[in-house]
Amino acid sequence: MAIEVISKEENVQAEQGELPRKSQSNPPWTTDELILALDLYLRHRSSLPDKIHPEVQALSQLLGQIGSTLGLNRGGSFRNENGVYMKLGNFRRWDPKYVENGRKGLAKGNKNEKVVWDEFAEMPSKLAIAVAAIRRAVESSSAEAKALTGVSNEPDVIEAEEGKVLTRLHRYRERDRNLVQAKKKDVMKKQGCLRCEACGFDFAIAYGQVGNGIIDVHHTKPVHTLKPGEKTKLSDLALLCSNCHRLIHSKRPWLSVEQVRALRKEAQSNAI
Ligand SMILES: [Zn+2]
Ligand SMILES: [Zn+2]
Repeated sequence: MAIEVISKEENVQAEQGELPRKSQSNPPWTTDELILALDLYLRHRSSLPDKIHPEVQALSQLLGQIGSTLGLNRGGSFRNENGVYMKLGNFRRWDPKYVENGRKGLAKGNKNEKVVWDEFAEMPSKLAIAVAAIRRAVESSSAEAKALTGVSNEPDVIEAEEGKVLTRLHRYRERDRNLVQAKKKDVMKKQGCLRCEACGFDFAIAYGQVGNGIIDVHHTKPVHTLKPGEKTKLSDLALLCSNCHRLIHSKRPWLSVEQVRALRKEAQSNAI
């Protein structure tokens, strides 16, 4: 019988969830999870908490909840205290204050740690808003929060900087039937047609009667910028054709309607 030798390093990585264990596998940390871990890291930057610290345990539990929302939590050692503790050690590597004296953090980690560090570590208010929004989305018992569990990741949609949970919430809200109908009705009443705000495409003109009423509705404000309980205003919504809408969500950070208009203008002037 062949005996598999697992190196010490592999074991450490497995505990962090980067490598599959022989008995089970933990998926890599998502951006959402790394944002929450970074928040904990920065609050204890000078002296990291140990595995039994209440905040490490609380984060471990919250990550378990996020994992369930995203369909990643299969139990076992998923984001246990040890995994959270190791992840804090991983952030050391990207912390200029820590490495300035020649010290090194844990070498092996997830490449996303650097991305999250660069996007949030020097921006405390941006980090605080993202952390609060992720917590609200996961800890809420609203129908909306429950619905996130059933939403799958869309291949064309690039994850927002704030991660998968808020991306799902954003896309879920864009499809809210009542909101979509209210927006279309409002524009129809004011303008008499439903045109893409980025390129002017009108399904009813392009396809005749069959195209009547067809247009996407896009949230121009990322959901995490909305305060708890704040209702979406119709003016926060934009009508977009499917192409422009797809383009907007294909870049990180997501493009604005104005940016798509400018891109079209630039491409058209280059073509002449
Ligand atoms: Zn368009
Ligand atoms: Zn959209």
